[in-house]
Formats: sequence, structure tokens, C-alpha cells
Amino acid sequence: MESELQTSGVTSNIMPLAFPRGKEKFCELCKREAYLQCTRCRVTFYCNAEHQQADWVGIHERICHLLVRMRTPTELIDHAARRDDQLRKAELIEICRLVAQSKLSEGKYEEALPAAHCCLHTSIDVHGPNTVQLLPSYLLLAEANMGLDNLAVVAELLCQAKWVVLKHPESGPLIQQQLHRSLGRFHAAVGNLEAALHHFANDVYFSSEEYGLDSINASKGYFLMAEVFVRQGKIPVARSLYSKVAHTWHKHLISLLHHQTEISHKRAVSSQSFYEQSQRVEMDEMLRAMLEFEQKQFRRDAAQIALLAHSLAMLWFLGGDLQKALGFGTTALQASQQITKHDLTEPVQRLLQQVQSLQPGSGSRTAEKQRH
Ligand SMILES: [Zn+2]
Ligand SMILES: [Zn+2]
Repeated sequence: MESELQTSGVTSNIMPLAFPRGKEKFCELCKREAYLQCTRCRVTFYCNAEHQQADWVGIHERICHLLVRMRTPTELIDHAARRDDQLRKAELIEICRLVAQSKLSEGKYEEALPAAHCCLHTSIDVHGPNTVQLLPSYLLLAEANMGLDNLAVVAELLCQAKWVVLKHPESGPLIQQQLHRSLGRFHAAVGNLEAALHHFANDVYFSSEEYGLDSINASKGYFLMAEVFVRQGKIPVARSLYSKVAHTWHKHLISLLHHQTEISHKRAVSSQSFYEQSQRVEMDEMLRAMLEFEQKQFRRDAAQIALLAHSLAMLWFLGGDLQKALGFGTTALQASQQITKHDLTEPVQRLLQQVQSLQPGSGSRTAEKQRH
């Protein structure tokens, strides 16, 4: 406990005199007795340096400054102060949710835990236990634990989540959809494929109710169903679902690209803002999974390959990664040129020209070469 900490956050031993007697401090992460405190905010405590470091990397670095006022007890709490406090807590919940989500999408499950825990505790503090507002936190925690293979913990969290939703039948399709997606993922993870399909089908149903049948969100449900069909060896069903998903995303990316081009004509705009990093990573993963799946088939469907590679090229063009856009664009062009009626060739070529015109040092001549 005395050792110098090699951490990015700074802690010191808790100074007992600074706190009222009889008020024990508990570790932010594990709730065991704490011996260290964060020296910046002085209102966050840890049992050991390891938990301090995990919390710092996971979330504390971003919220340390917010916690000072939130956790400092005040004598007189008037109406305005209470409202300020609620607003700060709402902000804290949102930051934690976003951080947890982005860590999850990067596959950093261990690092997602502190943010997800903080999200849950603050939500309980604001909304009370057993409220439907806790659902996003339960599902974030479940996803992190699923990544860490703590399936017993996941089962327990999802049980709580299910109970909360049952208690609040008025909670609406979005909540139902999120719950079914998590339940489907859990059943898929434990090899309960029929149950997984049942939940993913419900996921699609509630997604469609909230966002429409051709929405990106509903198509994620179809994608997850297709993955289960692949595991069951039902390849034709999986392929037809993948094809449906590919068309939806292709259409979506075309309209995003169109929107982007229109805006950038009017003013310079950072393409980074179009997609949150976490969304882009998720989309990239799913599109690539479908592309690799199709490329492995005995009879490849060139149209599907062209559609997916074009989508990936647009995704990375919007994300500002020109090398990836160029790579996928070239794959799309080759696939599309194998089809007799290749209506994708032209838009793909146009995108490749756009990509090449933006690359440093290469003018329009390289774009010309690509066009032949
Ligand atoms: Zn601890
Ligand atoms: Zn702190």
C-alpha cells in the first residue's frame, strides 16, 4: 500500500482526520474497505492500487472533476442546488454510458467495467432501484461480462434486466428490443441456438416497430439471426438474410455519402463527426464478417461481394481512412466488373476517384488509371 504508484492517476493513503469518524470508505470498484483515495477529487476511494488504476483507465480520468461537487456533502440544499446536482448526475450517466459503449465496441471488456458500474450506481442514485432506467446499465455490464466469459454473472444481470422490464410493461419497444438482443447474445454464447433465434426474432420485431423494417437497427437483428443460422449449417437461409442486411446498409451508406458530399460543398466539415468511432467499428466488423463469409463460399455471389466491399469503402471514406477505402473500393470494382449488368461499377469508380483525389501527392491522373 505504501509503494509508489506507477499509475496515470494519483492516489494517497486516506487521511482519516479529513473525514467524519465512523464513516468507513469503500472501494469504488469492489466495495471492499478502502485504504487509498484519489488525490485530485479526494472523494473516490480504493482498496488497492490495482483497482485505482483499473478505475482510472476505465472511467475515472474522465469524471474525476465531476465527482468533487457531487460527492461533497453540503449542509444547505436548496431547490436550485438539487437541480444542479441532478443535472450533473445525468451528465455523469451519459459520459459513463458512452465510455462503456466505446470500450465494448473496441473489445476492451475489462476496461468497460468501471464505466458500466459507475453508470449503474449513478442511475440507481438518480432513478431508484428496480426502475426501467437501469436497463441500459444492466445490459452494458452484461455485455462486458459476456466478453470476459463470466456467463454466470451475465445470466444474473439479464435476469434482473428481464425483471425490471416485466415490472414496467409501459417501457416501450426500444427497451424490449435491447433486452431481447442481449438475451439472444447470451443464448448464442452458451450454445442455446433455438432460444437465441427466438430472441433475435423479437429483437427484429421491436426494432421494426421503433425504427421501421428497413432500418439499420432492425438489420443488426437480422445479422445476428444469420450468424446463428450459419452455426446451424443453414447456409442458404443465412445467405438470404445477409443479402437483405447488405442491401439495407448499402442504401444507408449511399445516403450518408450523398449527405456528406452536399455538406462539404457548402463548408468544410470533418468526416469524423458522421460516425461515432464505436459505431464505425461495429459496422466495419459486421460488414467484413459478411464479406469474408461470401468470399469463402464455393459459388461466390459477385453482386453481394461488390455490395459489401462498396459499403466498406464508403464507410472508411466517411471515416477518413483513405487506404482502407481504396482497398475495399478496388475489391468492389473487381467484383462488380464480373457481373454482366454491373450497375455498381459507376458509383464505385466515382468513389475511387474521390478517394484518390484526396490522397496527398496523387492528382487526378491516378484516378484516370483506375478507371480503365
Ligand atoms: Zn477494490
Ligand atoms: Zn478523482
